[in-house]
Parts: sequence; C-alpha cells; structure tokens
Amino acid sequence: MAKLRVVGIGPGDYEEMTVKAVNALNACDVIVGYTVYVDLVKAHFPGKEFFTTPMRREADRCRLALDMAREGKDVAMICSGDAGIYGMAGLIYELRGEDASVEVEVIGGLTAATSGGCRLGAPLTHDFAVISLSDLLTPWETIEKRLDCAAAGNFSIALYNPRSHKRTDYLQKACDIVLRHQSPETVCGVVRNIGREGEETRVMTLAALRDYEADMFTTVFIGNSFTRVVDGRMVTPRGYRDV
Ligand code: SAH
Repeated sequence: MAKLRVVGIGPGDYEEMTVKAVNALNACDVIVGYTVYVDLVKAHFPGKEFFTTPMRREADRCRLALDMAREGKDVAMICSGDAGIYGMAGLIYELRGEDASVEVEVIGGLTAATSGGCRLGAPLTHDFAVISLSDLLTPWETIEKRLDCAAAGNFSIALYNPRSHKRTDYLQKACDIVLRHQSPETVCGVVRNIGREGEETRVMTLAALRDYEADMFTTVFIGNSFTRVVDGRMVTPRGYRDV
C-alpha cells in the first residue's frame, strides 16, 4: 500500500535527527518539503527525488504528497522539529480523511523547545507551556489569553514564531502580558538558528526580552519565578527542596 511518512527532522543538523527519521528518509522514494528544510537534509540523502514548495502553501504541499503516495510512491514529507508541533501532521490526517488507500505514519522529532532548551541550560525542568505568537491561524485574543493564563500559572513558557515581517511588536506585547504576573527580573533566554549556521544563545531578563529583536528563526524561553542563572545557564529547578 502507498505510504506517506510525515517526518520531523529536528532543528537542522543531522545529528539531531532521530534514527527512525533517518531510516524513513533512506527508505522513501520522494522527499517533499519547504525549501529551507529540503536544503538542510539534501546532502545526506543522495539519489532521492526532491520536491520543494514555498512557505504558506502548506495545504498544496500536503495534497501533492498525498497524490504522489496514491501513485504508489513511498513519500516522506519533512517538517522542522516535530511534525506534530505547529507542523503538517494534523493537516495530512485531515486532508487524507477516510481515504484508506494511503497509509500515514508520523515520525516524531526534536522540537525547538527541547533542542533550544538544552543549549540554554535546563529552562523547562518543571511544568511549561508552549505558545506560538503567530496569529495567522489563531486569533490574537486567544494567544493573549493563553499567555495570561500560563504566566498566572507560573509556567515556564517557550514561545514559537515570535516575529514575522508583519508582526514586529508581538514579542513586546507578549512580555507585557507576562509582566502582569511575573517580575521584570524573571530569567529569560533566546536561541536563534538552532542546529543551523549562525546559532546563537542569550540569557537575559524579562525586561530586556521586551526590547529584544527576535526573528522568525528564534525560539524564546521565559522562566518561571524559580528560574535562576547558574554559571551563565538558564536553569529552572526541578523542585527538589534541599539543593
Ligand atoms: N515544528 C517545529 C515548529 C514550527 S513553528 C518544531 O517542532 O520545532 C516555527 C517556529 O519554531 C519558529 O518561528 C521558531 O520559533 C521555532 N523554530 C523551529 N526551528 C527552529 C530553529 N532551528 N532554531 C530556532 N527556532 C526554531
């Protein structure tokens, strides 16, 4: 039966792909994905057929992948990080619907919260929330509410999509919401280009984060009220009492 694997490739470097993801890409005939992701994996999978589609054409990309699988090809559709986290896994299932002629398998990957977190130290040791600041598919009021609730609950927060061309002040707005509940001294961190050229990490206060110019390849971490800086690293205690 035709098979479509939806593969999370991790943040960008080959070492952070799971063995299962590598095996899936070795096994398939065609690799489909957004140009940036295809460029990241291409060199490691010579001899494959590659199909790239521009960003924002997600549904077209998914339909193309499903059609190629129906034609009998083994297709891998790649997403950065984990395919189920702001990725294409859900859309593939929705578009396939009840069509039993294509078998779908989702293969998990290392998401930016964890690949970025380990570069900063251990910011997500306790309960945390993941919130995307992109309002392309989510109303901004919903995003605000989630930010407010997560900060009120003293969760550490990983923010995805902190900025796009049109949305230049969303990170600032998000920080203002968190500042309703958390101190300006709250420990925060940013990681840019995880596993890619130009990787950068910085630890800063929530007050400084408010003025930070994030780009779309940045993941932002806001600590909870217990998060500390230990030897330059952002560390959220697990909660063990006598350390
Ligand atoms: N499926 C992806 C998330 C896609 S949403 C995952 O699980 O990681 C896109 C957002 O993810 C970016 O705006 C950024 O906030 C974050 N992101 C994804 N890859 C990243 C990388 N290599 N470096 C830094 N941030 C990244």
